[in-house]
Amino acid sequence: MPSETDGGAPDGGAPDGAALDEFRLAARRWLAANLERRDAAGQAGVVRGGGTHSAEEYLPERALQKKIYEAGYAGINWPKEYGGQGLSDAHARAFAQEAAPYRMPDLGHAGGTTYGPVSQTLLRHGSPEFLARHVPRILAGDELFVQLFSEPDAGSDMAGITTRAVRAEGGWLLTGSKVWTSGAAYADFGLCLARTNWDAPKHRGLTWFAVPMHAKGMSIQPIREITGEAEFCQEFLDEVWVSDDEVIGEVDQGWTVAQTMLLVERGAGRDDPVNMPETDPAVIDPFLVELARSVGRAEDPVARQALARIHTADWARGQLGRRITGLLRTSDRPASGIASYWKLAAGVYNPQRARLIMEIGQGQPLVWRDAAGQRAALEYLNSRVWSIAGGSNEMQRNAISERVLGLPREPSFDRGRPFGEVLRSARQWSENN
Ligand SMILES: Cc1cc2nc3c(=O)[nH]c(=O)nc-3n(C[C@H](O)[C@H](O)[C@H](O)COP(=O)(O)OP(=O)(O)OC[C@H]3O[C@@H](n4cnc5c(N)ncnc54)[C@H](O)[C@@H]3O)c2cc1C
Repeated sequence: MPSETDGGAPDGGAPDGAALDEFRLAARRWLAANLERRDAAGQAGVVRGGGTHSAEEYLPERALQKKIYEAGYAGINWPKEYGGQGLSDAHARAFAQEAAPYRMPDLGHAGGTTYGPVSQTLLRHGSPEFLARHVPRILAGDELFVQLFSEPDAGSDMAGITTRAVRAEGGWLLTGSKVWTSGAAYADFGLCLARTNWDAPKHRGLTWFAVPMHAKGMSIQPIREITGEAEFCQEFLDEVWVSDDEVIGEVDQGWTVAQTMLLVERGAGRDDPVNMPETDPAVIDPFLVELARSVGRAEDPVARQALARIHTADWARGQLGRRITGLLRTSDRPASGIASYWKLAAGVYNPQRARLIMEIGQGQPLVWRDAAGQRAALEYLNSRVWSIAGGSNEMQRNAISERVLGLPREPSFDRGRPFGEVLRSARQWSENN
């Protein structure tokens, strides 16, 4: 178990080599004694369409997360005062490498959100009291967070949300509706954007709240997707009371917090490129080979060409990721514009990849007859996710053109005007037309 003598470098500096080796060996021993190895098929990771989503389904995964936390291997490079280990990024990387052959907790989309964009945003903007209350529970698997920002009338235009928060005794009452919330059916909290000031321009009257998903007044409706599963939900908030302690960042300054969240969501905050594993251009994704074999086309030149096209594009995308991660650290251009290149690449490339996979399978994967066929079908059905979730392709192109290339901003009829007034005149306009 890690201790004060592990040679950590909480300041982000390089740890002592011998201490890092010692940490690695201790982790190796603990993993071998306590975790199961992955089966031959590996852990598929989070695939939309891969299962049902009930709170019970995730109980064993939460227990596994707790075991790892109690052993001191969760939040390795997170601040010690909030339940992390306060060790260096190199320690976190060493543990991840050692843990790769083992079955780690699969907490679904809520887990991906909690340990990714939500935690990075909270650690940047949460008050010390908020972090001391929530982060140890997050690391222990006791609190899973989802993102409550999209609304039926506000997606790309996230600052146009109309869920309202009004002051009440000791806190706030939230009323409105959120939608497309991945993982809401089994989450504990939602990081919720609400409007707290209608007299300010739309980007300046917003505030973030940590809303308990099981609070009185909150109702959660699953939405059935094309894959057959109901991973998304729509939530209806009817005067949900949230304590003042659960405000994240400054009241009315939620847009600053939103910027961090969107940046992480678009791929910022990844590992340093020099430490990212270099993909081997000679190694093809084994799933593609298995798929070609399963439909008897491993030697077919047309299928092999499609396979080669996927492989080269996969490799190029990996290289682009490294390049963008590096640029995010060194460039003086706005990070939000640079991160958009990576997000746009995924949004454009994933549908092409899925179509090529279908070409290899000649439609057979659609019958879901074996593991490779199922994965091919799910990749196809999910292939548009990256072109919409977290900001559509068009919004990434807007960000690149305005923030990186310096092209003129989109015309806007609401800039600088009180948001309440904008809504009133929009309503009048539609009544008169
Ligand atoms: C798989 C998935 C998971 C998601 N998970 C979550 C979640 O957990 N929490 C959450 O809050 N939300 C979530 N979302 C919602 C997602 O963030 C929104 O769908 C996204 O921001 C787009 O908003 P919209 O669907 O309202 O589309 P709209 O904003 O209505 O856009 C419709 C179309 O108009 C285009 N468009 C809109 N504005 C412009 C413009 N200014 N310039 C050019 N084109 C424009 C868009 O590109 C799009 O093609 C998820 C979505 C998906 C697909």
